Amino acid sequence: MEPVVELKEERSMNFLERIIEDDLANNRVPDNTIVTRFPPEPNGYLHIGHAKAICINFGMAEKYNGRCHLRMDDTNPEKEEQEYINAIQDDIHWLGFDWNDYFYHASDYYQTLYEIALNLIKDGKAYVDSLSAEQMKEYRGTLTEPGKESPDRNRPIEDNLRLFEEMRQGKHAEGSLILRAKLDMASPNINMRDPALYRIKFATHPRTGDTWCIYPMYDYTHPISDAIEGITHSMCSLEFEDHRPVYDWATSIDGIDHTPHQYEFARLNITHFVLSKRKLLHLVKHRLVLGWDDPRMPTLCGMRRRGYSPESIRDFISRVGVAKVESVVDYNLLEFCVREDLNKRAQRVMAVLDPLLVVITNYPKDKVEWLDAENNPENPQGGTRLIPFSGEIYIEKEDFMEVPVKGYHRLYPGNEIRLKHAYYITCNEVIKDDQGNVVEVRCTYDPESKGGTTPDQRKVKGTSHWVSVPQAIDCEVRQYDKLFLTEDPGVSTGNYLDDLNHESLVVLSHVKCEPSLKDAQPGEYLQFIRNGYYMADSKDHSVEHPVFNRTVTLKDSWSKKMKKIHQ
Ligand code: ATP
Ligand code: MG
Repeated sequence: MEPVVELKEERSMNFLERIIEDDLANNRVPDNTIVTRFPPEPNGYLHIGHAKAICINFGMAEKYNGRCHLRMDDTNPEKEEQEYINAIQDDIHWLGFDWNDYFYHASDYYQTLYEIALNLIKDGKAYVDSLSAEQMKEYRGTLTEPGKESPDRNRPIEDNLRLFEEMRQGKHAEGSLILRAKLDMASPNINMRDPALYRIKFATHPRTGDTWCIYPMYDYTHPISDAIEGITHSMCSLEFEDHRPVYDWATSIDGIDHTPHQYEFARLNITHFVLSKRKLLHLVKHRLVLGWDDPRMPTLCGMRRRGYSPESIRDFISRVGVAKVESVVDYNLLEFCVREDLNKRAQRVMAVLDPLLVVITNYPKDKVEWLDAENNPENPQGGTRLIPFSGEIYIEKEDFMEVPVKGYHRLYPGNEIRLKHAYYITCNEVIKDDQGNVVEVRCTYDPESKGGTTPDQRKVKGTSHWVSVPQAIDCEVRQYDKLFLTEDPGVSTGNYLDDLNHESLVVLSHVKCEPSLKDAQPGEYLQFIRNGYYMADSKDHSVEHPVFNRTVTLKDSWSKKMKKIHQ
């Protein structure tokens, strides 16, 4: 698939909004209250793809003054854990949505679902099947050939009731029997060929424990849960489109008196990203990343830890838009959105990632001045802070060149530059070690240039950030890059793991930061000026050992790309 670039400033109504407004206008919504739901399976952490489904379902409920239910789709006890349930709730709250009192579990309905199944059996609409898994596959048919009816399809109702009861009592082995709906083995839609309703699983469920050893299938559970909760618009991703006939069948079973409707939208795909819980779980289990909340992961907890703001993610989702056609969104759009947001809110601070010592020879020995530095030029209310200046500072190694290349305006012998928030300095001398590496640069400063201007309004072309040596704090900085090298991991190699970027994390252990950073807290948005946006790490950062994650660099390839497109 070609990456699709979209930049929407003003958004027109999407197709789901049109459906909802039309339903409201034509009195097709009970109590005129839109009720949506987000039904994650608690078998992993939420990723940015889920954020799209969350923004659609919670966002639509918010927009039309309705409500959105959070429902754990917990029908797979072997894979589901309380840890995931808690994390899902945290992540939705972090994104800025709330389900209020409407928190449910599919397992709340196990008894009801069981009774409905009994009625289906009694009405001759469901049967217990003893075909093996392989036989079942064979009988199911293909996209081009109809399926075959199982020999058990016409089992007498009494026998079905007895066998289903025995399944419930644990008298049959896993995989030996299933309960199926009697729909249509010749249907062109394979999902309608007598779908499974219940399977046997001797697994302890996180909520119902060992009460059940038969568990209802998703295609049966989800529509009936929607009906029980009075969902009006059940909005999910496109892969459920082919399941909609089963959804419609299940919500029209006798005795179910509310009819929700399912609508499908395209999943979110992003270049260089893998958005599948199964694949993400693999990365975690095989320690290819350091957990679900590794800042390189596309999980919401990973992105939060990396320093993404919830606002930037919501902005991104809204720019991507809601459509019915699958597309791949350019990763740069996400970075563009996070830069846009952090530019407005991030506190500017100085950190030198790759330090070079600069000694200012005419600065009074042992003198320390505290200079005013604005916190955010984009935010007039952002205030200022004091930063120390002294006769020994660090600048970035790349801000000095002994023999400058053409067009280099930073520090080199004989050249004058401005130190951000401080003075003008001129380089006079270079000190090297035995191997000829530059280890120190000697400069003089102009005492008249305090704050970055001189009485004669002398112009300099370079401005460097810096940190005063005696007060500098030593930090660890984690420079993250894309987790996958290719735009579509696995598509050309056949295995997404072959496209992993083994340099997606570079740790800098001796970064020098201004002393105000000793109070930095995870959750505070920072810009290390000229270096990028950063956030203190929520797991490893401490006053004794400060650790910062790079959220995103300052370089904006997205804007350039957009300019090119509009040229
Ligand atoms: P995965 O494929 O990552 O395992 P899933 O669909 O199995 O995801 P669920 O927990 O069942 O995970 O998803 C909950 C809801 O989130 C579903 O209704 C699904 O439509 C939606 N969803 C999941 N991935 C995406 C995505 N990439 N874009 C949009 N919606 C998604
Ligand atoms: Mg799913």
